Amino acid sequence: MAIWGLPTRAPVVRCCAEPDYLRVRHRFQPRPWLPSCRGLRQAACAPALLAAAGARKSKMARMERVVFLGTGSAVPVPGQRNMSSLAVMLNTGGIILVDCGEGTQHHIKVSTLLKLSRVEVILLTHLHGDHCFGLFGVLSTAAIEGRKDPILIVGPQGIQDMVESMLRFTGGWAPEESFNIEYLEIPNTGAGGEDLVGPSGSGPKGLGFHPDRCRHAEAVELGMLAGLRITAVPLVHGIPDWGYILKELDRPGKLDAAKAQKLGIPRNSLMGRLKQGEAVTLDDGRVVLPEQVLGPEIPGRSFAVLQDTSDASSAIKACHHANCVIHEATFEAAMEEDALRKGHSTSVMAARFTAACEAKRLILSHFSARYAKTSDVRPGCQRGPG
Ligand SMILES: [Zn+2]
Ligand SMILES: [Zn+2]
Repeated sequence: MAIWGLPTRAPVVRCCAEPDYLRVRHRFQPRPWLPSCRGLRQAACAPALLAAAGARKSKMARMERVVFLGTGSAVPVPGQRNMSSLAVMLNTGGIILVDCGEGTQHHIKVSTLLKLSRVEVILLTHLHGDHCFGLFGVLSTAAIEGRKDPILIVGPQGIQDMVESMLRFTGGWAPEESFNIEYLEIPNTGAGGEDLVGPSGSGPKGLGFHPDRCRHAEAVELGMLAGLRITAVPLVHGIPDWGYILKELDRPGKLDAAKAQKLGIPRNSLMGRLKQGEAVTLDDGRVVLPEQVLGPEIPGRSFAVLQDTSDASSAIKACHHANCVIHEATFEAAMEEDALRKGHSTSVMAARFTAACEAKRLILSHFSARYAKTSDVRPGCQRGPG
């Protein structure tokens, strides 16, 4: 398990798969905000329904840490690499999981940073087993541990059927005795409603998004989930596959105390409201606008997870100037031909993508089991400063 803070500057290339069982204490906030996602369940949820997700109220969150729970491709490497999964820890105390490969719950339990009960949203990139077979264990354990809060699963078309089939064959699921599982399925269509697979999609079986349609597709806005704005971008792979971009909302700038004092603003709740970006009326009737006392807006940071793809170019616009991109690098640079044929990327392909979107940091993940050390994947990648 590896843990990284989110960067605020300096581009850098890193591999992150060496086991690192950190024991760090972390104090959680008392109660996480939990989204209410009723009405967003069906696969029929086309862009209009997805847009409804954006309309939901949410408390703004900031990303504090990213914990890698698995960075392997296809099969685990015992003692080295688990199947794909990572946790984004929020300042609200909530956790967003991106992918949930086999063994995810084991690593959550090994970590002293993470708690299963804090997981609010699970984003699944695609339904290949190395990215989602751990989901069933996570749900089952959460129920056994007495979870009551709902959990939202976001993923490609078919995710609800897959989970409900598994639950049906393993004794059924009674939400009233445990918790609600809610779904946000992303249809195999672009933001304009166009079919992304078409008659001859990508991959040997033609089941993935068609490369040309995929490249030209618009990103799909999923709205505010767990306090972050989340966008999905279609990726070229053997089956429908989505990359996710998690973005913090911009925050009001810092309060200029000298200016506030000059305007005669008392140190009470009015000051707090101005800090939140609200206009206030003073006792003498004067209206003070936030821009009179606040510095420039602080831009929210963005973090992208692009797993299993031979072409993520549809994500370049959405990842422009991203603070951090996690991109799959199943193979080393010399194996580009194999990578393209299998719907995957090399380390250099990942670096090219990151350069194209001018992201500040690239972290490589999803390494083939052929590599005992992740440093074997890196040749050809230039390490950035920092
Ligand atoms: Zn994979
Ligand atoms: Zn895959």
